[in-house]
Amino acid sequence: MPGIYVHLPFCPYLCPYCDFAKWPLRASAAREYLQALHAEIERSAEQSAATIYLGGGTPNAYPADCIADLLQRLTRRFPGAREVSIELNPELVRAGDLQRYRAAGVTRLSVGVQSFEPDEISVLGRRHAPQDIAPIVAAARDCGFESLSLDLIFAVPGQTPTSWKRSVAQATQLEVDHISAYGLTVEEGTPYAAWRAREPAAFCDDAREAELYGIAIDALAAAGYRQYEISNFARPGHECRHNLNYWANGEYIGLGVGAASYRSGERSVHTRSLREYTAAALAGGTIPQQAERLEGLRRVGEAVMLALRTSQGVHLEDFKNRYDIDVIEKYAPVISAFTSTGLLEQVNGAVRLTAQGRFLANEVCGAFVTFE
Ligand code: SF4
Repeated sequence: MPGIYVHLPFCPYLCPYCDFAKWPLRASAAREYLQALHAEIERSAEQSAATIYLGGGTPNAYPADCIADLLQRLTRRFPGAREVSIELNPELVRAGDLQRYRAAGVTRLSVGVQSFEPDEISVLGRRHAPQDIAPIVAAARDCGFESLSLDLIFAVPGQTPTSWKRSVAQATQLEVDHISAYGLTVEEGTPYAAWRAREPAAFCDDAREAELYGIAIDALAAAGYRQYEISNFARPGHECRHNLNYWANGEYIGLGVGAASYRSGERSVHTRSLREYTAAALAGGTIPQQAERLEGLRRVGEAVMLALRTSQGVHLEDFKNRYDIDVIEKYAPVISAFTSTGLLEQVNGAVRLTAQGRFLANEVCGAFVTFE
């Protein structure tokens, strides 16, 4: 069964580091987009889904009633999801929203905290206060959500090992089920890229970023969170099923502007033009997209790249069964090169990243994808 991803792209303001498909919130555009999304859902083939994930953008830029209505339409078309997640901007959580989400079938909340340090929150262009988070966590517990996750960002300009430790500690003290810790990526074309070009010293170098990542890994392990993916840590049983499916190279269906799908070996991405998406969906036409079929070694390379992100790594027998390939033999030069430099290891019938390898995951994974 596929996972269903739904993109809700409006934000009350735009963060200077963000390169997601997102637009400043305007009521008329947000209303029209929702109608387009409804039309896309209605035209989708009915099938069972394993998970539903509402991401953005800022899903809770929409009123909770719109989210409840959207979920009703989704679960009619894609019944059976065992996990239903929504991403939340903490400053927009209104009284009664969480109860409304829970009643609508949401099981998992992912709250974009990013930092508990006022200076860092401000540098990231966010507007919530650190003290906004504890009441949301308490309310989520009262409403009975199965899993509650907080997102944090490290390598923020101005962040120090001490301030990062404080943020991680505040998150763990809230006893949430899941914590994501992402290293800040400076994407081309964003205001942050222009800032870094002007003032490179404001940004962390690789050594500092590795130090901050190490702090998170150690502190989260000490607090009982198992690292199950490069950026994701969970208490037992609280791993995000929707994301686990991505890393297992499972199928998923993306709905909305810029949303990606993977079905029957074909990867496709909807247009990132809001105007094009909305017009096509409302007209009942084909939504413009880019698609490519992954075959042969390319398909295996992508699956290896995704599996390497997880703590389990590439399970050799599983790959033999699924792709009829001996990963060790096929990728011998790549595996040997990264094993000798301490970035890969073989453990329990699997190839996986070492602690050092996790920090250089893009380099290691990229070598598998481009290997011929
Ligand atoms: S709230 Fe999220 S999606 Fe919106 S601009 Fe900020 S980082 Fe991007």
